[in-house]
Parts: sequence; C-alpha cells; structure tokens
Amino acid sequence: MELWFSEKQTPNLSMSARIKETLYMGESNYQEIAVVDTYEFGRMLVLDGVFQTSLFDEYIYHEMIAHVPLFTHPDPKRVLVIGGGDGGSMREVIRHTSVELAEMVEIDGLVVDVCKKYLPEISAALLTDNPRVNLTIGDGIGHMARAENTYDVIIVDCSDPIGPGEGLFTYNFYKDVYKALKPDGLFVQQTESPFYHQQLLKRLNRDISSLFPITRTYLAHIPLYPGGTHSFTIGSKIYDPLAVDIVKIPSMNTRYYNLELHKNCFSLPNFVQNLLK
Ligand code: SAM
Repeated sequence: MELWFSEKQTPNLSMSARIKETLYMGESNYQEIAVVDTYEFGRMLVLDGVFQTSLFDEYIYHEMIAHVPLFTHPDPKRVLVIGGGDGGSMREVIRHTSVELAEMVEIDGLVVDVCKKYLPEISAALLTDNPRVNLTIGDGIGHMARAENTYDVIIVDCSDPIGPGEGLFTYNFYKDVYKALKPDGLFVQQTESPFYHQQLLKRLNRDISSLFPITRTYLAHIPLYPGGTHSFTIGSKIYDPLAVDIVKIPSMNTRYYNLELHKNCFSLPNFVQNLLK
C-alpha cells in the first residue's frame, strides 16, 4: 500500500509526498513533530502538518537566509538565530569566520533533539560543543524584548504565523528587533510565499519599512514550499544588500547562493513589486 503525507497549503490546495517510512512522530508542549522519509524529498521535518525542511532542498533556504544578510554586513561578529530548531541556519552562520558568537533561541527543545537524531546533516552545528555556538531553549519574542544594542545580524528562521510563531510576525516584535540590533545592525525573516501569503507579505513589508530605513525583499526557488517560490525580507539600519561590493565577498562553497544571486535575488517580478508598493 502506498503511504502519502499531505500538507494543506491553502484551504483549497495540498501538496503530497509519498512516504518510505515514518521515522518519528510525537508532540511537544508547542506542536506536533514528525520526521518522515519520502521518495522525492528524502527525510523531512514536519511541524503541525506543515513541511519545514527536507534533505533534498534545505540548502537553498538555509544558504539564502544566512548568507544574504551576513555578506551584507561588513563584519558580523555577534549573530542571533530565532527559531531555526533544525540547525540549518546555524550551520551556515558559523561558516562566516568573522562571527565570534552565534546564539540561537528556539522555543521547542524537542524539535532540536529530534533533528539532531534524524536530520544530523542539517543540525551538524548543534551536534558538537562549539564555543562559538550558544543554544537557548526559550521564546524568541521574550528574548527580543529583553535585548538591547547587542546583535550585528538577527535571523528570524521561524515557522508559519500560527501557534508559537505568530508573535514573530508583528510590529511590536520588529520594534524589539530594532532595539536589539547595534546601530548598524540588520535582520532577515522568512516571509512566506509571494503567491499564497500576499496580505501577510504586504503587512510585514509595511511594518518593517516603518521602522527600518532600508527594507528589501528577496526570493528563492524552494520546491518544498507552497508555490515553489519563497520570500525573505531584510530590515537594515545602514547597510543596503544592493550596495554591497560583491567583488569583496569571499568565495564560499555553496550549492545555491552565489555573488550574482546576492543582487539578482532582489529583482522582483512586477506582481511582487506592486504588492509591496
Ligand atoms: N525552514 C522552516 C520553514 O520556514 O518552514 C522553519 C524552520 S524552523 C523548524 C522553525 C522553528 O521556529 C520551529 O522549530 C519552531 O519551534 C520555532 N519557533 C516558533 N515560534 C518560536 C518562538 N516564538 N521563539 C522561538 N522559536 C520559535
């Protein structure tokens, strides 16, 4: 008998992956957690029925959420990842040799433990005792409310705006992010699909640009996510990702991110430009 896992992407659209094996199924205080091995995507993490990351395409999301902001800042030393329980963003962050301390605040310790066991390729940075990596299990919203003038770059690697992640998509949260950044700091957040989350993208862009002088949205092709195109939004106090001298970016062995993409990912189709006007 064939087994399929379906994610309901909108009330009228599902994406299904044929499953080889269910490796883990459990529930934390925050969400239902599953790891399934699939034919097309390999092993993947599912939270509350929503596909989060897969071995097939995780490099795209994690390289793009980490390297675009980190190469925009000329000397990122102190970096914070909010969420990111699978560890993929942290794996990319610590490849930047300028980073002295990379903190991660993830609300759900069980996500971290499950990913360490079943997705070690992604959670590699959390598997060793690296003095540059500091993981805290806690709420990223509370952490932001307490932090002040601390970080060069903040990466909000959150799940969807429902459940524990809802407050990470609000104006008050962005106000705290602004306060937590140093005077030349910048942040990035995954901002969902430009096809299926248009009102969200519009609202976030309005909120972020009302606080940050430089607000830029960029896109990446990610087969696992609704519509296959995913958006990210940067809010920056000083540095403009489009003004970066790409010649000065050191080469890094990446599978998706490259110097041309650093700028070209900000070239938006007209329907997205119109949305963000
Ligand atoms: N790449 C993924 C995607 O966009 O589908 C997201 C990856 S990561 C698994 C998202 C993480 O954010 C989850 O592990 C979730 O527990 C965490 N999270 C949600 N709300 C949070 C909060 N308020 N503070 C810290 N972490 C949070």
